[in-house]
Amino acid sequence: MAWRSSGASNRDLIENLARNDKINDPRVKAAFLKVDRAHYAPSSPYDDHPQSIGHAATISAPHMHASAVENLLPFLIPPADSSSPPRRVLDIGSGSGYLTHVLAELVGEKGTVVGVEHISALRDLGEKNMGKSAEGRSLLSSGRARFRVGDGRKGWTEPGEEDEKWDAIHVGASARELHKELLDQLKAPGRLFIPVDDDEGGFSQHIWCVDKDADGKVERRKLFGVRYVPLTDAPGK
Ligand code: SAH
Repeated sequence: MAWRSSGASNRDLIENLARNDKINDPRVKAAFLKVDRAHYAPSSPYDDHPQSIGHAATISAPHMHASAVENLLPFLIPPADSSSPPRRVLDIGSGSGYLTHVLAELVGEKGTVVGVEHISALRDLGEKNMGKSAEGRSLLSSGRARFRVGDGRKGWTEPGEEDEKWDAIHVGASARELHKELLDQLKAPGRLFIPVDDDEGGFSQHIWCVDKDADGKVERRKLFGVRYVPLTDAPGK
């Protein structure tokens, strides 16, 4: 349930998420503890519910961020074999920038997380929020965390890195379909975490966890019902 992990401080909130089984892995807990949600949520930052951040967008509830990171974790942590390429992670609908920051804490020094927003004011908000902490400023200046403007339904290609795909793609807004571009841009293996409008079982949206294996075979698992803002055309388009 929303609200039940609310706390009086960032540590309180994260400890409550762990106590309520929303955070299970110590690496996930450590990453969340490093990011102060007060830099990203306009008020009551340690409450376990979503909040408006303007432009019809919300910062998702902490328990949803926790679930996204727990599910994507095997594709976030740097590969044990140091000769493997570093992690590349895409955060579509980066909004407040909070999750982009948590993801960047997990991908290791050589990893990259790109947050994509279709509203440039929100792209700027994510970057501004990340700039409120020394850790966030260092993630930005090293290029480990980047914020871009684009239509996330088409995925994202970094200029100069056209041949590179993504280990993990997180989508922070509800999609009408599993966009083919997102599947195409996933590495093999790779994982996509995406809310989809599927209108089943009393909830109009469910989280889907989509895995591409090393041979390129795709498997979809429906996780649970959610309520996300929609993945849409940018205003004025
Ligand atoms: N992960 C963010 C969620 C923000 S809400 C957070 O927790 O702060 C969803 C976001 O998706 C909004 O900021 C909205 O502007 C963005 N969005 C909606 N449609 C989009 C699209 N087609 N491309 C990129 N971003 C989109």
